[in-house]
Amino acid sequence: MTRREKAAAVLDRLRADIPAPETELRYRTEFELLVAVILSAQCTDKRVNLVTPALFEAYPDAAAMAEAEADEIFPYIRSVSYPNNKAKALAKTARMLRDDYGGEVPREHAELVKLAGVGRKTANVVVAVAFDEPAIAVDTHVFRVSNRIGLVKDRPTPLAVEKGLRRVIPRDAWGEAHHLLILHGRYTCEARAPKCGRCPLVGQPDGPDLCDYYAALERLPAPLDGLDPKRGRYYSKTARRYFDEPATKTDRAGVEQIADPWTGSMSVFDTKTGRTTKRVKDYRV
Ligand code: SF4
Repeated sequence: MTRREKAAAVLDRLRADIPAPETELRYRTEFELLVAVILSAQCTDKRVNLVTPALFEAYPDAAAMAEAEADEIFPYIRSVSYPNNKAKALAKTARMLRDDYGGEVPREHAELVKLAGVGRKTANVVVAVAFDEPAIAVDTHVFRVSNRIGLVKDRPTPLAVEKGLRRVIPRDAWGEAHHLLILHGRYTCEARAPKCGRCPLVGQPDGPDLCDYYAALERLPAPLDGLDPKRGRYYSKTARRYFDEPATKTDRAGVEQIADPWTGSMSVFDTKTGRTTKRVKDYRV
């Protein structure tokens, strides 16, 4: 299966699983969407939705917010992350919108990224959601999920992931794919504990498994029974001995693993849990 075919199959399964792939931020106008997306950086949509009703009532448009100083905006958004910086960014952006863009949110990505608090990801969300232009915004969920599934191959930065996704997903599906991947990452493929047991990308009777991370997890050795933690923190299955001070070694997938300090074997188990110390490379930012 090529990566393009895989991307098409992944999107089909996610479409069936997520009937309404759209932003969970609440907004009524393009200005409100821009403000909500700025507030959502490093913060949950749920938290942003708690503060925006009062904020939008006080400052319904760019002209109204442009009259406010950052310390007047701050109390409305104090419970989101980085409220000081975001209050300053909102005040500055509102003035830029009023003075340079006639109070409207610009449609062009290149103009949006000139606004305070607006980076590539925020601009991508605004052009896709507000103006229905093709764009794939890569946030923490899209980054992690795309790498885990293998829609992109070991891409270390959000920009690299965005470029990789643009290559394998048809342009007219970019906006939808962004929401599908975010919602899949938020509710199923969670950062700390992905719910692989109920993931539509694997374990389907009528189709192949579509996740590289899951396949790598399946290849990990089963736990070892009967280990004695009193004899050492780790057990080397190859050398059949216990030890406390491990060495580290990099495996074929480029992941640093715990190793037996004498033989270099990476077939090492935690004696308390019996589980392998091998790790599957993960992607969390
Ligand atoms: S199988 Fe697991 S790791 Fe893979 S996409 Fe599904 S939840 Fe995420």
